[in-house]
Amino acid sequence: MDGYGKPLPSLTEENRPFWEACREGRLSLQRCDACGHLRYPVARHCPECLGEGATWTDVSGRGAVFSFIVIHRAYHPGFQDDVPYNVALVQLEEGPRMFSNVIGTPNDAVRVGDAVEAVFDPVTPEVTIPRFRLRAPVR
Ligand SMILES: [Zn+2]
Repeated sequence: MDGYGKPLPSLTEENRPFWEACREGRLSLQRCDACGHLRYPVARHCPECLGEGATWTDVSGRGAVFSFIVIHRAYHPGFQDDVPYNVALVQLEEGPRMFSNVIGTPNDAVRVGDAVEAVFDPVTPEVTIPRFRLRAPVR
């Protein structure tokens, strides 16, 4: 047992590059070889042109909170010690949106539009989950 106690992604041939990049502290997404569209979540076909080929491309990890909710009830026993916690939809600078959590700040201090950056949370030897923290305001 890994001791993590929460659901984990199933690593597949298709999504393994995403998770391996996370383990190395990089956010890497598929860029369509045919039309250049950057896609997330991992998919075999491009949602824009249905092309199949893609090249893994590192992105900045920077984005903004597009929306978020705060979960107050544990719907899985693994999350019992985490409630309340937020689930945020982060708009990456490069376009795709990603569900994650904003960590390191109280839930009631998170605001839509907040600038965030990816941080990498190793939860098992194989899986590192990308989460986000607030970026210091640029002055
Ligand atoms: Zn495409």
